[in-house]
Amino acid sequence: MDEFSFIQSIQQSYYRQPTLLKGVGDDAAIIRPSGDDIVIAKDMLVEHVHFIKSTMKPYHIGYKALAANLSDIAAMGAIPAYYLVAISISNDWSNEELAEIYNGMKSLADRYKVDLIGGDTVSGTELVISITVIGYANRNISRLRSAAKEGDVVFVTGTLGDSQAGLHILQNAGTYKEEEYFKRRHQLPSPRVEFSLGLQQIDRVALNDISDGIASEAHELAESSKVGMVLIEDKIPVHPAYAQFDSNLQYNWKLFGGEDFELLGTVSRSDWELVKQRAQQLSLRLTEIGYVTDEKDAGKVFLQQENGKIIQLEKKGYNHLSR
Ligand code: ADP
Ligand code: MG
Repeated sequence: MDEFSFIQSIQQSYYRQPTLLKGVGDDAAIIRPSGDDIVIAKDMLVEHVHFIKSTMKPYHIGYKALAANLSDIAAMGAIPAYYLVAISISNDWSNEELAEIYNGMKSLADRYKVDLIGGDTVSGTELVISITVIGYANRNISRLRSAAKEGDVVFVTGTLGDSQAGLHILQNAGTYKEEEYFKRRHQLPSPRVEFSLGLQQIDRVALNDISDGIASEAHELAESSKVGMVLIEDKIPVHPAYAQFDSNLQYNWKLFGGEDFELLGTVSRSDWELVKQRAQQLSLRLTEIGYVTDEKDAGKVFLQQENGKIIQLEKKGYNHLSR
């Protein structure tokens, strides 16, 4: 298949978004926005760095690549509308595998009614996928990391450590409880788009999605907001079958393991009930895991351990340029 037939094969036969004037097929796409703020995110997946063929099927790769981008859009309180895909393809990948990568993206795109409106296709030495997602946010809504205030409730959606547990299962032979659940959490993560959109009534919510581990994301909130944060260790939510793993692994995965794509946030105590209601309506687990302290701890994150002792958490997680 050449580049032209490939582009033809991935082109949508119709578009769902009303603000689109021109999608794939010209030199660039055209959008005529309706007045909302435009929110843009980009995320890149590189073979051998973010995934290997033995743990991720092509479908999973496409799905996860788009999920990571949608998760960023969710963390901004925005609704996703469009995506563009730049892909570098090596000879190790067949046409069928390539089609599966796009099928993975398409299933999430269909679910959220986001349209594929462009991209770029090149050949390279390994598979690289770089996706750009464009979304819209209400002008009066911002979900900035800098919005946390002293006294806020710190909350998190879902359970943590699952993605790393899934990767562990994929890479280590053995029998595990809830194997399929953990693998799915690694391969097909769920961006929390509906939950974040459900918070529109609330003026101020600080949000960050968990791509690099909660310790790292909590630091980003604390630094941007110039506040401190205390997380309570035994409140950090994990799946019931998580206890089967070595306790060191449990500790590291839930605090420093990435790619759970849950949302970490802070909100005033008075708005907390509403946040809980929204999660309940979606049957989404939501847990209060700590609180925001004042500016004398600006940028610091503490962990209240099970024995009551409070330690300062390191800003540690997956960091690509830390070599
Ligand atoms: P140009 O040479 O003008 O950059 P291309 O021939 O690369 O255009 O692309 C033609 C059309 O196909 C454009 O609309 C482009 O955005 C789209 N496109 C190219 N590659 C991809 C891809 N991998 N995924 C989605 N759209 C793509
Ligand atoms: Mg051109």
